[in-house]
Amino acid sequence: KNYQKNEIREIIQKENVQFIRLQFSDVFGVIKNVEVPTSQLGKVLANNLMFDGSSIEGFVRIEESDMYLYPDLSTFMIFPWSADEHSGKVARFIADVYTVDRKPFAGDPRSNLKVWLRKMEAQGFKAFNLGTEPEFFLLKMDENGQPRMELNDQGGYFDLAPLDLGENTRREIVLEMEKMGFEVEAAHHEVAPGQHEVDFKYADALEAADNIQTFKLIVKTIARKHGLYATFLPKPLTGINGNGMHVNMSLFNMDGNVFFDEKDEVQLSQTAYHFLGGILEHAAAFTAVTNPTVNSYKRLTPGFEAPVYVAWSGSNRSPMVRVPAARGNSTRLELRSVDPTANPYTAFAMILAAGLDGVQRELTPNHAVDRNIYLMDETERKKAGITDLPDTLLAALDNLEADQLMRDALGKHLYETFEAAKRVEYRSYRQNVSQWELDTYLQQY
Ligand code: GLN
Ligand code: MG
Ligand code: MG
Ligand code: MG
Repeated sequence: KNYQKNEIREIIQKENVQFIRLQFSDVFGVIKNVEVPTSQLGKVLANNLMFDGSSIEGFVRIEESDMYLYPDLSTFMIFPWSADEHSGKVARFIADVYTVDRKPFAGDPRSNLKVWLRKMEAQGFKAFNLGTEPEFFLLKMDENGQPRMELNDQGGYFDLAPLDLGENTRREIVLEMEKMGFEVEAAHHEVAPGQHEVDFKYADALEAADNIQTFKLIVKTIARKHGLYATFLPKPLTGINGNGMHVNMSLFNMDGNVFFDEKDEVQLSQTAYHFLGGILEHAAAFTAVTNPTVNSYKRLTPGFEAPVYVAWSGSNRSPMVRVPAARGNSTRLELRSVDPTANPYTAFAMILAAGLDGVQRELTPNHAVDRNIYLMDETERKKAGITDLPDTLLAALDNLEADQLMRDALGKHLYETFEAAKRVEYRSYRQNVSQWELDTYLQQY
C-alpha cells in the first residue's frame, strides 16, 4: 500500500503502536533491526534515523560508520503477535540504507536490487514478477529453545492430519500472514517428513524479496509459539529431500507478460527464450548467491527433486528450469535450484541481470530436455549441451569470480564482501573433521 506520512501517524496513534522497527538486510540476507519508541516517529519519517554501520558484517569500517535509514513507507505494517498488553504494539518499516552523504549505500542489497530494476526499465520492461515457493522443516525443540534434530511428524506430500502434526502450526502461519497483508495461495505438507511449503502471491522483485524476509520471520515466530523450531537450512537431514525455494519468474511491459506469445508452438515468446538463455549461461556463476552455504550443495544432489544440471524442460522436473503449463499472463519460468538461504535481494538481482543479458545478446537456449537427465550418461548429456551445476561452494565461488557480469550484478562492494566472507566460510568447513570421515575411515586405517 502507498501510505502517506500522515496516514501512518494516524494508524500508529489509533492502534497504540509503542515501538517502530526499521529492518534491513546484510549481505548474507540476515535481517537487522533498529527499534525506536514511537516518540521518534518524526525523525524516522524524515529519513533522519542514524545507526552505526560498522557493527553490521560487510557494511563499513569504523571510521565511516554513521549511516541513515530511509523507511519505505509502502512496507509499513503492525506485527499482529507483538501485542502484549503492557507494552503496546510494534510496527515495522523495511528501510534502505544511506551513507552519511545521503547516497544509497552500495553495500545495501535492497538498494542494489533497485539499481537492477532501473536497468530493466531502461531496457523497456515494467516489472520482474516473482512467485517463490519456500520450503522449511519443523523440528522439535528442547527446554532451552534449541532445535533437536528430530522431525515433528512422519507425513509426506500433501498428507493430512493426524499424520501431519505441523498442520496447526502451518495454519496459524497462514492466518498471521493474512493479517499482515499476504495473499497465501497454497500451504501444504512437502515430500519429506516434517517438511512444509507456503506459497504466496507473486509480486514485483523488490516486494517479493521483502515478503520472503517477512515470511521467514513469521514462520520462525509462530513455530516457536507452538514449541517447534522452523529451519530453512537446505539439507538438515541426510537421505531425505532438502529445502528449496523455487522461483517462478516473468517479465512484464505495459501490455502484460512478455514471456507469452500465442503464435509460438509452445506459446513462449522470443524474449522468454532469450531470458532463459541468459539464465542458463550465467547459472554456474549465480549459484554462489542463490545457494550460498556449504550445506546448499548437499541438497543439489541426484535423487531428491533438486537440480544438479544446467538444463531446462517444458514438463520434466529434473532440470534446473521448468516451464509450468500456465500461459497468458501466468506464463513463467520456474528456477528450481535456488534455496532459502539465499539473500533474496542479491539472488533476484543476479537472476534478473542474467536474464536481461540473455535478452540483450539474444541468447538461444539449447533444446529442452524432456527426459529424465539422471538416466542419461555423460556422453548423452554432453551431446545435449547439458552442463553441471557447481557441486561445492568453492566451485560456485570460482565460477562467480570468472563471470564479470554476475560480479557487476552485485556491484563491487557486495561482491567483495560476499566473496571474501564465503571463502573464509569454506576454508573453515574444509578444516573441520566431520562425523562421516570418522565413521568411514577411523577404524579402517
Ligand atoms: N524439496 C525439493 C527441493 O529441494 C522440491 C520438491 C518439490 O517442490 N517438488 O527443491
Ligand atoms: Mg511448490
Ligand atoms: Mg515444493
Ligand atoms: Mg515448484
